[in-house]
Amino acid sequence: MEKNRELARIFDRIADFLEFKGDSIYRINAYRKAARVIKDLPGNIEELYHQNRLRSIPGIGEKIASKIQQYFEEGSIKKYEELRREIPEELMILLEVPNLGPKTLRLAYEALGVRNLEDLKKVVRDGTLATLPGMGPKKVEKIRKGLEIFLRGQERMLLGEAIQIGEKVLGHLAPLISRISLAGSLRRMKETVGDLDILATGEKGKIVQAFVGMPWVTEVLAKGDTKASILMEDRQVDLRVVDEGEWGSALQYFTGSKEHNVHLREIAKERGLKINEYGVFSTKTGERLAGATEEEVYAILDLAYIPPELREDRGEIEAAQGGRLPDLVNHDQIKGDLHVHSNWSDGTADLEELAREGARLGYQYLAITDHSKAMKIAHGLDEKRLEEQIKAIREINTRKVGCHLLAGIEVDIHPDGSLDLDEAVLKELDWVVASVHSHFTQDATERIIAACHSPWVHCIGHPTGRIIFSRDPYPLDLDQVLETAAATGTALEINAHQDRLDLSDLHARKAKEMGVKLALGTDSHHLGQLWMIRLGVGVARRAWLEPSDVLNTYPLEELLALTRKKR
Ligand SMILES: [Zn+2]
Ligand SMILES: [Zn+2]
Repeated sequence: MEKNRELARIFDRIADFLEFKGDSIYRINAYRKAARVIKDLPGNIEELYHQNRLRSIPGIGEKIASKIQQYFEEGSIKKYEELRREIPEELMILLEVPNLGPKTLRLAYEALGVRNLEDLKKVVRDGTLATLPGMGPKKVEKIRKGLEIFLRGQERMLLGEAIQIGEKVLGHLAPLISRISLAGSLRRMKETVGDLDILATGEKGKIVQAFVGMPWVTEVLAKGDTKASILMEDRQVDLRVVDEGEWGSALQYFTGSKEHNVHLREIAKERGLKINEYGVFSTKTGERLAGATEEEVYAILDLAYIPPELREDRGEIEAAQGGRLPDLVNHDQIKGDLHVHSNWSDGTADLEELAREGARLGYQYLAITDHSKAMKIAHGLDEKRLEEQIKAIREINTRKVGCHLLAGIEVDIHPDGSLDLDEAVLKELDWVVASVHSHFTQDATERIIAACHSPWVHCIGHPTGRIIFSRDPYPLDLDQVLETAAATGTALEINAHQDRLDLSDLHARKAKEMGVKLALGTDSHHLGQLWMIRLGVGVARRAWLEPSDVLNTYPLEELLALTRKKR
């Protein structure tokens, strides 16, 4: 399906170029439509091409079909290559800047040499944009605002940040409101979130007023009778207030994803139904048949209720049709955190504080996994200090000051695949996480596989090493790692820290399919980070994991029995 996406992107880009050139709207729309059709195509376009069936796709005319043919025969589309030579491609993204428009963009390109986002920012800032013909101060100001919104929209935020902002708003408005919920990608627990969407029912005017009047609001971007947009903590938050009877259809609609909703619409259509944010309607009579609850919306399509985290059109609709939806793991089932640092290495809390906090969170156990000696800057533990820490942990456990502490370590995996600590001490530990913390440019596959083969290693920490928005994964053949993990009974971590979320949803789903167990750990260095286990649960749910796939759902004795098994 890789080719479907690639072709859709090319046709969209051609449409952009033509729009920029002021070409006919019909031609532009034909390319846009082709892009959409190909993107939503259930089958593989390459196969259709080989079977000579391109023209059988609704919305693909002769001209577009011949371009697709060219793509598969010659590896590129001539028209697209010509346009790319003529106009800088990075200019095209600026067509999305609100209030700018293709005509002005073209003028800015020809008269001021604006070729990319940086250039546009510059001519807006230094005022040269105002020198273009037909450019009054009002228009420049509108474009400046548009650019601001565009730049904000470019930025996505971490799931953890988004949740904290969203819940602040929910907490503030909840007392006024009969129903309120997060929507959009935040409700689906995607690892990064664009704008924050909130949906509510109740007295519209009063709710909108309370929303724009919240103490954290720095700017009101828009305010109407039923909706408003504000800035808080530099982020845009959108609120919509809907009628009670439309709650379910609106929540379903605004939760998305787009792909999931497109698929639902197709199913509705087949049944003579129309589905939108206001409800589910009979196409024939226009009668409204459902919409008060999400359950009702799914039920009328003969689907079981699909949890928001699954709504990505990755097989969940078929599973809901066949009664095969997974029984997803949930937060209440989590009995402990399997990756926590204390002040013995680079954390701030001491062992007793952690045990107490674990108990307060309702945990049975919490694994202390400080760094090993290779992490000098983190005061990593050598064998001697680790022995002392094990003693301290056992002593705290006998006093029962809080939840049970597992004596653990986050041991470095050296570049040659050996572990940073002697077997003699690793053997005494309840829980051993092994992680890569150095030589990030080298392929880490052999290194991690070697660690999986060690009888002392229970889990590979943050297996791909990526840090969202700042570091790409190290080179890694994940399939090989998964195979070895499955064969050796080594768990892989879903590091629940908001910066990591590693493994990701798709990788964790693959791990499950290959029979690998997953372990959630917050990698907390402060007490105030333990809450992030929820983010890990979000990833686990997006990965279709059930309680038995996640070690943290096991009671202490069962977990210990399982870890002893590997040895
Ligand atoms: Zn680490
Ligand atoms: Zn760590």
